[in-house]
Amino acid sequence: MTQIYNFSAGPAVLPKEVLAQAAAEMLDWHGSGMSVMEMSHRGPEFISIYKAAERDLRELLAVPDNYRILFLQGGGLSQNAVVPLNLLGHKPQPATIDFVHTGSWSGKSIKEAARYANVNVAASSQAEGFHRVPAQSEWKLTPDAAYVHLCTNETIDGVEYDFAPDPAALNGTTVVADMSSHILSRQVDVSRYGVIFGGAQKNIGPAGLTIVIVREDLLGKALPICPSAYDWKIVNDNESMYNTPPTYAIYIAGLVFQWLKRNGGVAAMEQRNIEKAALLYAALDADDFYQNRVAKANRSRMNVPFYLRDESKNEAFLAGAKARGLLQLKGHKSVGGMRASIYNAMPIEGVQALVDYLNEFAGR
Ligand SMILES: *Cc1c(COP(=O)(O)O)cnc(C)c1O
Repeated sequence: MTQIYNFSAGPAVLPKEVLAQAAAEMLDWHGSGMSVMEMSHRGPEFISIYKAAERDLRELLAVPDNYRILFLQGGGLSQNAVVPLNLLGHKPQPATIDFVHTGSWSGKSIKEAARYANVNVAASSQAEGFHRVPAQSEWKLTPDAAYVHLCTNETIDGVEYDFAPDPAALNGTTVVADMSSHILSRQVDVSRYGVIFGGAQKNIGPAGLTIVIVREDLLGKALPICPSAYDWKIVNDNESMYNTPPTYAIYIAGLVFQWLKRNGGVAAMEQRNIEKAALLYAALDADDFYQNRVAKANRSRMNVPFYLRDESKNEAFLAGAKARGLLQLKGHKSVGGMRASIYNAMPIEGVQALVDYLNEFAGR
Protein backbone atom coordinates (compact mmCIF):
# COMPACT_ATOMS: atom_id res chain seq x y z
CA MET A 1 0.00 0.00 0.00
CA THR A 2 1.32 3.46 -0.81
CA GLN A 3 1.76 5.79 2.15
CA ILE A 4 -1.52 7.59 2.85
CA TYR A 5 -2.00 10.52 5.20
CA ASN A 6 -5.56 11.23 6.23
CA PHE A 7 -6.30 14.85 7.23
CA SER A 8 -10.01 14.31 7.93
CA ALA A 9 -11.61 16.47 10.62
CA GLY A 10 -13.53 13.46 11.91
CA PRO A 11 -14.03 10.60 11.98
CA ALA A 12 -10.29 10.88 11.76
CA VAL A 13 -6.98 9.09 11.60
CA LEU A 14 -6.20 6.56 14.34
CA PRO A 15 -2.75 5.29 15.32
CA LYS A 16 -1.72 2.45 12.97
CA GLU A 17 -0.51 0.42 15.96
CA VAL A 18 -3.95 0.61 17.53
CA LEU A 19 -5.69 -0.55 14.36
CA ALA A 20 -3.20 -3.41 13.99
CA GLN A 21 -3.77 -4.50 17.60
CA ALA A 22 -7.54 -4.34 17.17
CA ALA A 23 -7.23 -6.42 14.00
CA ALA A 24 -5.11 -9.03 15.79
CA GLU A 25 -7.65 -9.21 18.64
CA MET A 26 -10.73 -9.03 16.42
CA LEU A 27 -11.81 -12.67 16.51
CA ASP A 28 -10.53 -13.70 19.91
CA TRP A 29 -9.86 -11.14 22.60
CA HIS A 30 -7.14 -12.35 25.01
CA GLY A 31 -8.14 -16.00 24.69
CA SER A 32 -11.75 -15.32 25.63
CA GLY A 33 -12.96 -16.89 22.39
CA MET A 34 -15.00 -13.76 21.70
CA SER A 35 -14.64 -10.56 19.78
CA VAL A 36 -15.03 -7.49 22.03
CA MET A 37 -18.12 -6.72 19.95
CA GLU A 38 -19.73 -9.95 21.11
CA MET A 39 -19.17 -9.53 24.84
CA SER A 40 -21.78 -8.66 27.41
CA HIS A 41 -21.14 -5.17 28.71
CA ARG A 42 -21.66 -6.62 32.20
CA GLY A 43 -19.28 -9.55 31.83
CA PRO A 44 -15.85 -9.63 33.50
CA GLU A 45 -13.96 -9.30 30.19
CA PHE A 46 -15.62 -6.10 29.11
CA ILE A 47 -15.70 -4.67 32.64
CA SER A 48 -11.90 -5.05 32.72
CA ILE A 49 -11.62 -3.22 29.37
CA TYR A 50 -13.89 -0.43 30.59
CA LYS A 51 -12.11 -0.04 33.93
CA ALA A 52 -8.69 0.15 32.25
CA ALA A 53 -9.97 2.79 29.80
CA GLU A 54 -11.43 4.87 32.62
CA ARG A 55 -8.26 4.59 34.70
CA ASP A 56 -5.95 5.45 31.79
CA LEU A 57 -8.00 8.48 30.71
CA ARG A 58 -8.07 9.69 34.31
CA GLU A 59 -4.28 9.35 34.49
CA LEU A 60 -3.64 10.98 31.09
CA LEU A 61 -5.72 14.07 31.89
CA ALA A 62 -4.89 14.08 35.62
CA VAL A 63 -8.61 14.10 36.35
CA PRO A 64 -9.08 14.94 40.05
CA ASP A 65 -10.84 12.41 42.33
CA ASN A 66 -13.94 14.58 42.67
CA TYR A 67 -14.67 14.27 38.96
CA ARG A 68 -16.53 11.40 37.32
CA ILE A 69 -15.78 10.13 33.81
CA LEU A 70 -18.86 8.98 31.88
CA PHE A 71 -18.90 7.01 28.63
CA LEU A 72 -22.06 7.90 26.72
CA GLN A 73 -23.58 7.61 23.29
CA GLY A 74 -25.01 10.39 21.14
CA GLY A 75 -21.98 12.37 20.00
CA GLY A 76 -20.80 15.84 20.94
CA LEU A 77 -23.85 17.43 19.39
CA SER A 78 -26.24 15.60 21.71
CA GLN A 79 -24.48 17.16 24.68
CA ASN A 80 -25.73 20.57 23.55
CA ALA A 81 -29.11 19.38 24.84
CA VAL A 82 -27.89 16.93 27.46
CA VAL A 83 -25.83 19.58 29.29
CA PRO A 84 -28.75 21.98 29.87
CA LEU A 85 -31.03 19.03 30.71
CA ASN A 86 -28.53 18.06 33.42
CA LEU A 87 -27.58 21.43 34.86
CA LEU A 88 -30.80 23.48 35.02
CA GLY A 89 -32.88 21.46 37.50
CA HIS A 90 -31.84 23.43 40.57
CA LYS A 91 -32.43 26.85 38.98
CA PRO A 92 -35.62 28.94 38.88
CA GLN A 93 -37.02 28.55 35.35
CA PRO A 94 -36.32 29.84 32.86
CA ALA A 95 -32.64 29.80 33.73
CA THR A 96 -29.97 31.67 31.81
CA ILE A 97 -26.93 30.13 30.15
CA ASP A 98 -23.97 32.24 29.03
CA PHE A 99 -22.08 31.42 25.84
CA VAL A 100 -18.86 32.53 24.28
CA HIS A 101 -19.52 32.42 20.53
CA THR A 102 -16.31 31.65 18.69
CA GLY A 103 -17.48 29.71 15.64
CA SER A 104 -19.75 27.06 14.15
CA TRP A 105 -19.81 24.64 17.06
CA SER A 106 -20.50 27.14 19.83
CA GLY A 107 -23.14 28.58 17.48
CA LYS A 108 -24.89 25.21 17.32
CA SER A 109 -24.70 24.93 21.10
CA ILE A 110 -26.41 28.30 21.50
CA LYS A 111 -29.25 27.30 19.18
CA GLU A 112 -29.89 24.02 20.93
CA ALA A 113 -29.72 25.43 24.46
CA ALA A 114 -32.28 28.11 23.53
CA ARG A 115 -34.87 25.32 23.59
CA TYR A 116 -34.30 24.89 27.33
CA ALA A 117 -33.20 28.25 28.71
CA ASN A 118 -32.55 31.90 28.04
CA VAL A 119 -29.27 32.20 26.25
CA ASN A 120 -26.95 35.13 26.68
CA VAL A 121 -24.05 35.56 24.29
CA ALA A 122 -21.48 36.85 26.77
CA ALA A 123 -18.91 37.48 24.03
CA SER A 124 -18.73 36.85 20.32
CA SER A 125 -16.16 37.10 17.58
CA GLN A 126 -18.79 36.66 14.87
CA ALA A 127 -18.45 40.23 13.58
CA GLU A 128 -14.74 39.54 13.03
CA GLY A 129 -15.40 36.34 11.09
CA PHE A 130 -14.58 34.11 14.07
CA HIS A 131 -10.87 34.78 13.75
CA ARG A 132 -10.04 35.00 17.44
CA VAL A 133 -11.15 34.06 20.96
CA PRO A 134 -12.54 36.97 23.00
CA ALA A 135 -10.41 37.42 26.14
CA GLN A 136 -12.11 36.57 29.41
CA SER A 137 -12.06 40.27 30.34
CA GLU A 138 -14.47 40.85 27.43
CA TRP A 139 -17.06 38.32 28.61
CA LYS A 140 -20.28 39.88 29.91
CA LEU A 141 -21.43 37.10 32.20
CA THR A 142 -24.92 36.97 33.70
CA PRO A 143 -24.94 36.97 37.50
CA ASP A 144 -26.42 33.64 38.60
CA ALA A 145 -26.19 32.04 35.14
CA ALA A 146 -26.53 28.26 35.28
CA TYR A 147 -23.16 27.99 33.56
CA VAL A 148 -21.01 29.44 30.81
CA HIS A 149 -20.43 27.29 27.73
CA LEU A 150 -17.18 27.42 25.73
CA CYS A 151 -16.00 25.51 22.69
CA THR A 152 -12.28 25.47 23.37
CA ASN A 153 -11.35 24.31 19.87
CA GLU A 154 -13.59 25.31 16.98
CA THR A 155 -13.09 22.46 14.53
CA ILE A 156 -14.49 24.25 11.47
CA ASP A 157 -13.08 27.73 12.07
CA GLY A 158 -9.69 26.53 13.33
CA VAL A 159 -9.79 28.69 16.46
CA GLU A 160 -8.39 27.41 19.75
CA TYR A 161 -8.34 28.92 23.24
CA ASP A 162 -4.84 29.85 24.34
CA PHE A 163 -5.98 30.27 27.95
CA ALA A 164 -8.03 28.40 30.53
CA PRO A 165 -10.83 30.32 32.22
CA ASP A 166 -9.66 32.09 35.37
CA PRO A 167 -11.96 31.17 38.27
CA ALA A 168 -11.19 34.46 40.07
CA ALA A 169 -13.04 36.36 37.31
CA LEU A 170 -16.00 33.98 37.02
CA ASN A 171 -17.88 34.75 40.25
CA GLY A 172 -18.44 31.07 40.82
CA THR A 173 -20.02 30.42 37.42
CA THR A 174 -19.53 26.82 36.31
CA VAL A 175 -17.61 26.43 33.06
CA VAL A 176 -18.73 23.81 30.53
CA ALA A 177 -16.27 23.13 27.73
CA ASP A 178 -16.79 21.30 24.46
CA MET A 179 -13.31 19.86 23.86
CA SER A 180 -14.40 17.39 21.16
CA SER A 181 -11.64 18.22 18.71
CA HIS A 182 -8.64 18.85 20.98
CA ILE A 183 -9.11 16.72 24.07
CA LEU A 184 -5.83 14.92 24.89
CA SER A 185 -3.87 17.13 22.48
CA ARG A 186 -2.61 19.48 25.20
CA GLN A 187 -2.41 19.56 28.95
CA VAL A 188 -5.50 20.84 30.66
CA ASP A 189 -6.25 21.80 34.25
CA VAL A 190 -9.51 19.89 34.65
CA SER A 191 -10.28 21.70 37.92
CA ARG A 192 -10.96 24.91 35.97
CA TYR A 193 -14.06 23.30 34.44
CA GLY A 194 -17.30 21.92 35.84
CA VAL A 195 -17.93 19.80 32.76
CA ILE A 196 -15.71 18.76 29.86
CA PHE A 197 -17.25 16.81 27.02
CA GLY A 198 -16.20 15.49 23.66
CA GLY A 199 -17.20 13.14 20.89
CA ALA A 200 -14.52 10.49 20.45
CA GLN A 201 -14.13 10.53 16.68
CA LYS A 202 -11.66 13.43 16.46
CA ASN A 203 -8.84 12.62 18.82
CA ILE A 204 -9.85 9.52 20.75
CA GLY A 205 -11.41 6.71 18.75
CA PRO A 206 -14.41 5.69 16.67
CA ALA A 207 -17.62 7.67 16.34
CA GLY A 208 -20.40 6.69 18.69
CA LEU A 209 -18.63 7.26 21.98
CA THR A 210 -19.00 10.52 23.89
CA ILE A 211 -16.93 11.30 26.94
CA VAL A 212 -18.19 13.51 29.74
CA ILE A 213 -15.99 14.54 32.66
CA VAL A 214 -18.14 16.11 35.33
CA ARG A 215 -17.49 17.45 38.83
CA GLU A 216 -19.39 15.37 41.37
CA ASP A 217 -21.37 18.23 42.90
CA LEU A 218 -22.97 18.90 39.49
CA LEU A 219 -24.63 15.48 39.44
CA GLY A 220 -28.28 15.25 40.52
CA LYS A 221 -29.36 18.61 39.09
CA ALA A 222 -31.20 17.30 36.03
CA LEU A 223 -34.53 18.66 34.83
CA PRO A 224 -37.37 16.16 35.34
CA ILE A 225 -37.74 15.84 31.55
CA CYS A 226 -34.12 14.69 31.09
CA PRO A 227 -34.12 11.22 29.49
CA SER A 228 -32.86 8.79 32.12
CA ALA A 229 -30.19 7.32 29.81
CA TYR A 230 -28.74 10.83 29.54
CA ASP A 231 -29.07 11.74 33.22
CA TRP A 232 -25.45 11.94 34.31
CA LYS A 233 -26.27 10.94 37.89
CA ILE A 234 -28.06 7.79 36.76
CA VAL A 235 -25.28 7.00 34.28
CA ASN A 236 -22.66 7.55 36.97
CA ASP A 237 -24.52 5.47 39.58
CA ASN A 238 -24.46 2.64 37.02
CA GLU A 239 -20.79 3.11 36.02
CA SER A 240 -21.82 4.05 32.46
CA MET A 241 -23.77 0.78 32.14
CA TYR A 242 -27.32 2.09 32.73
CA ASN A 243 -27.93 1.13 29.15
CA THR A 244 -25.53 -0.59 26.78
CA PRO A 245 -22.58 1.72 26.20
CA PRO A 246 -20.76 1.74 22.83
CA THR A 247 -18.59 -1.17 23.89
CA TYR A 248 -16.35 -1.54 20.85
CA ALA A 249 -15.71 2.20 20.70
CA ILE A 250 -14.73 2.15 24.39
CA TYR A 251 -12.32 -0.71 23.66
CA ILE A 252 -10.64 1.20 20.81
CA ALA A 253 -10.51 4.36 22.92
CA GLY A 254 -8.80 2.28 25.60
CA LEU A 255 -6.18 1.13 23.09
CA VAL A 256 -5.61 4.77 22.08
CA PHE A 257 -5.14 5.72 25.75
CA GLN A 258 -2.52 2.96 26.09
CA TRP A 259 -0.81 4.21 22.92
CA LEU A 260 -0.73 7.72 24.37
CA LYS A 261 0.82 6.44 27.59
CA ARG A 262 3.48 4.49 25.67
CA ASN A 263 4.31 7.68 23.79
CA GLY A 264 4.86 9.90 26.80
CA GLY A 265 1.31 10.95 27.60
CA VAL A 266 -0.35 14.28 26.98
CA ALA A 267 2.71 16.41 27.74
CA ALA A 268 4.75 14.66 25.04
CA MET A 269 1.80 14.77 22.65
CA GLU A 270 1.46 18.52 23.22
CA GLN A 271 5.14 19.05 22.31
CA ARG A 272 4.69 17.05 19.12
CA ASN A 273 1.51 18.94 18.29
CA ILE A 274 3.25 22.29 18.77
CA GLU A 275 5.97 21.19 16.35
CA LYS A 276 3.53 19.85 13.78
CA ALA A 277 1.40 22.99 13.84
CA ALA A 278 4.44 25.27 13.62
CA LEU A 279 5.69 23.40 10.56
CA LEU A 280 2.36 23.67 8.77
CA TYR A 281 1.59 27.30 9.63
CA ALA A 282 5.10 28.33 8.54
CA ALA A 283 4.45 26.87 5.09
CA LEU A 284 1.09 28.66 4.88
CA ASP A 285 2.66 31.95 5.98
CA ALA A 286 5.71 31.76 3.69
CA ASP A 287 4.11 34.11 1.16
CA ASP A 288 0.58 35.05 0.14
CA PHE A 289 -0.09 31.98 -2.02
CA TYR A 290 -2.02 30.48 0.93
CA GLN A 291 -3.88 32.21 3.67
CA ASN A 292 -4.97 31.33 7.21
CA ARG A 293 -7.09 34.11 8.69
CA VAL A 294 -7.02 33.24 12.39
CA ALA A 295 -5.23 35.48 14.92
CA LYS A 296 -1.84 33.85 15.56
CA ALA A 297 -2.44 33.29 19.27
CA ASN A 298 -5.68 31.44 18.57
CA ARG A 299 -4.63 29.28 15.65
CA SER A 300 -5.72 25.74 16.31
CA ARG A 301 -3.01 23.11 16.63
CA MET A 302 -5.51 20.47 15.53
CA ASN A 303 -7.60 21.95 12.70
CA VAL A 304 -5.86 24.20 10.20
CA PRO A 305 -8.20 25.85 7.68
CA PHE A 306 -6.57 27.66 4.79
CA TYR A 307 -7.44 29.24 1.46
CA LEU A 308 -5.64 29.43 -1.84
CA ARG A 309 -5.27 33.05 -2.91
CA ASP A 310 -6.48 31.94 -6.33
CA GLU A 311 -9.50 29.81 -5.52
CA SER A 312 -9.86 28.70 -9.15
CA LYS A 313 -6.97 26.34 -8.33
CA ASN A 314 -8.88 24.55 -5.55
CA GLU A 315 -9.81 21.48 -7.58
CA ALA A 316 -6.31 21.12 -8.99
CA PHE A 317 -4.88 21.43 -5.49
CA LEU A 318 -7.12 18.69 -4.12
CA ALA A 319 -6.50 16.38 -7.09
CA GLY A 320 -2.73 16.77 -6.75
CA ALA A 321 -2.95 16.14 -3.02
CA LYS A 322 -4.96 12.97 -3.55
CA ALA A 323 -2.47 11.72 -6.12
CA ARG A 324 0.22 12.06 -3.44
CA GLY A 325 -1.82 10.17 -0.84
CA LEU A 326 -2.82 13.33 1.07
CA LEU A 327 -6.52 12.75 1.73
CA GLN A 328 -9.58 14.68 2.94
CA LEU A 329 -8.14 18.19 2.71
CA LYS A 330 -11.30 19.87 1.44
CA GLY A 331 -12.59 22.54 3.82
CA HIS A 332 -15.95 22.36 5.55
CA LYS A 333 -18.76 23.31 3.18
CA SER A 334 -19.83 26.23 5.38
CA VAL A 335 -16.47 28.02 5.07
CA GLY A 336 -14.96 26.58 1.88
CA GLY A 337 -11.25 26.45 1.16
CA MET A 338 -9.09 23.71 2.63
CA ARG A 339 -8.61 22.22 6.06
CA ALA A 340 -5.88 19.97 7.38
CA SER A 341 -6.71 18.27 10.65
CA ILE A 342 -3.55 17.11 12.36
CA TYR A 343 -4.73 15.23 15.42
CA ASN A 344 -2.51 13.25 17.80
CA ALA A 345 -2.42 10.26 15.45
CA MET A 346 -1.08 12.30 12.52
CA PRO A 347 2.68 11.71 12.50
CA ILE A 348 5.04 14.60 11.78
CA GLU A 349 5.99 12.78 8.55
CA GLY A 350 2.42 13.35 7.36
CA VAL A 351 2.63 17.06 8.10
CA GLN A 352 6.01 17.19 6.33
CA ALA A 353 4.51 15.46 3.28
CA LEU A 354 1.74 18.07 3.21
CA VAL A 355 4.24 20.90 3.61
CA ASP A 356 6.32 19.52 0.74
CA TYR A 357 3.21 19.46 -1.41
CA LEU A 358 2.17 23.00 -0.36
CA ASN A 359 5.60 24.25 -1.41
CA GLU A 360 5.57 22.32 -4.65
CA PHE A 361 2.07 23.50 -5.60
CA ALA A 362 3.02 27.10 -4.83
CA GLY A 363 6.04 26.75 -7.11
CA ARG A 364 8.52 27.39 -4.33
C1 LIG B 1 -17.38 17.12 15.83
C2 LIG B 1 -17.76 18.07 16.90
C3 LIG B 1 -19.00 17.99 17.56
C4 LIG B 1 -20.11 17.05 17.15
O1 LIG B 1 -19.84 15.76 17.28
P1 LIG B 1 -20.91 14.66 16.83
O2 LIG B 1 -20.29 13.44 17.36
O3 LIG B 1 -21.02 14.72 15.33
O4 LIG B 1 -22.20 14.96 17.48
C5 LIG B 1 -19.26 18.88 18.58
N1 LIG B 1 -18.36 19.83 18.91
C6 LIG B 1 -17.17 19.94 18.30
C7 LIG B 1 -16.22 21.00 18.72
C8 LIG B 1 -16.84 19.07 17.27
O5 LIG B 1 -15.65 19.18 16.65
